[in-house]
Amino acid sequence: MITDFLELGLSNEILNGIAELGFEKPTPVQARIIPQLLVDDNDIVCLAQTGTGKTAAFGLPVLEYLDVKNPATQALVLCPTRELCRQISRDLGNYSKYKEGIRIVSVYGGAAIQWQIKALRSGAHIIVATPGRLLDLIKREAADISGIGTLILDEADEMLNMGFKEELDAILEQAPESRRSLLFSATLPKEVERIAKSYMKDPQIVTVGERNAGAQNVEHFYYMVREEDRYAALKRIADYNPDIYAIVFCKTREETQKIADALQKDGYDADALHGDLSQAQRDNVMGRFRRRSLHLLVATDVAARGIDVSDLSHVINYNLPQEIELYTHRSGRTGRADKKGVSIAIINQKEKGKIRRIEDVIKKQFTRLPVPGAREICEKQLVHLIDGINNVEVRDDIHAFMTTINEKWGEIPKEDLVKKILSYEFNRFFDYYRKAKDLNIPEKEKKEGKKAEGSRKKSRQETDAGAVAGKDKKARDGDPGECEKGFRWLRVNLGYKNNILPREIISMMKACGIGKKSVGKIEIFNDYVYVGLKDSVADYARSQLNGASFGRRRLNAVLM
Ligand code: ADP
Ligand code: MG
Repeated sequence: MITDFLELGLSNEILNGIAELGFEKPTPVQARIIPQLLVDDNDIVCLAQTGTGKTAAFGLPVLEYLDVKNPATQALVLCPTRELCRQISRDLGNYSKYKEGIRIVSVYGGAAIQWQIKALRSGAHIIVATPGRLLDLIKREAADISGIGTLILDEADEMLNMGFKEELDAILEQAPESRRSLLFSATLPKEVERIAKSYMKDPQIVTVGERNAGAQNVEHFYYMVREEDRYAALKRIADYNPDIYAIVFCKTREETQKIADALQKDGYDADALHGDLSQAQRDNVMGRFRRRSLHLLVATDVAARGIDVSDLSHVINYNLPQEIELYTHRSGRTGRADKKGVSIAIINQKEKGKIRRIEDVIKKQFTRLPVPGAREICEKQLVHLIDGINNVEVRDDIHAFMTTINEKWGEIPKEDLVKKILSYEFNRFFDYYRKAKDLNIPEKEKKEGKKAEGSRKKSRQETDAGAVAGKDKKARDGDPGECEKGFRWLRVNLGYKNNILPREIISMMKACGIGKKSVGKIEIFNDYVYVGLKDSVADYARSQLNGASFGRRRLNAVLM
């Protein structure tokens, strides 16, 4: 593996550009892709996560090969959003700062087309575009891609998710045969495969196994609250972290807007980023977030895809995503560049299974944290304020006002003055938190959850031990506790390990002719699931399931 940019065969102009950005050694995707792009001309499909340094992986070789004297468009980068267009062209501009005369033009929907036409007419060695707008510009004969040597599809899965299928097809049809194509994608759904098959020449598929360079530095936590307390928990998390600089992920556009509005109303520096906003609004929001005048960016996955903001203190899953893969994307936004990152999920009691499935995929454990209470939060904020006061620079300007200050404050004993000043800042907090209830689920309600938690821990620990000690059946099992009255436990050898979901169990029963009413509690452990079944159907269910296959697994069903 190449560990030094000097070994990659890049010119000094480019090396100086990236040195200035502080890139010291190539990321794995760069080490893998750059040398190959410089020596052969095969097409490549590269599967890599967000934050792995893909822009430089394709950008550096393209810039290296560019013929500045030839005014024609030599490379085309397609990406899903305007934000990404701008980010990529900014990055390419930075890499090539010392290579003079390179023109990079980005074109995207939602901005005045006349301006973009003008920019293209003045020459564009590289066009960075969203598919829809580019197609429009090609039709208007403002963009000419007939001479491109390299075509890059960045975040291809997301472009297809966003419905750019037809535009992509149309553009790919028009690109010259002789081009080289590079496709970058986090995932490889059928649609992306189709694009690769139809428009690429025998592409080599490169998977960069190492996820985000920073993912190792990310710690995962969850807070478990009642569904109706989700928002209150978010506020507590924000209050408990006075320096928070976070993306808060929501599932839908509506939810994103709702949460951002509520946060604003409650006095937080927050705003929403989602697809219903106009381009100007999106720019405004991103600008404020980058400048840190916004501390909380409430976003959908699509809107936030690929956006590179460094130094996030937290990624917050206001709601966990449907697909586990998205969780990896989300959490990969934090913990970049050797910094510690924190990924937080707010979940309700029913969502613990999701946490477990994520743990299995990311191969890391979550830690459950108690939702901070009034006292902890007030103390944290107070210390933050005092530290801020301690560290403030006292400027000479204040001297001119000392007489007035002394008149007002001279008589007040220091201790009282401190109390007054802090109360002035703090009464708002005290007022809010005086009424604040404990968001943690109280013992009684928690009982059931706690039991599952306990047995889960046990089954996990013992799984590890079991792996060493051999096949101790009991050790890999958990204790489901009492079954409901009139029901019996049926134990089936499917568990978290197999990513089984309660709803799949219910469909499985349905397939055997057992309705939902006959199914009681379902307890999932690492290796087994216990399904509560009505006495009258229990034996029948066992006979149906035992020996049946589930995927490649042969089921073993035992009545307990
Ligand atoms: P991706 O497109 O894979 O999501 P980016 O190309 O946007 O990732 O890069 C993510 C971040 O990592 C950017 O801030 C970029 O400047 C930084 N970066 C990329 N390559 C390197 C490197 N070799 N060393 C240090 N930082 C890098
Ligand atoms: Mg990218």
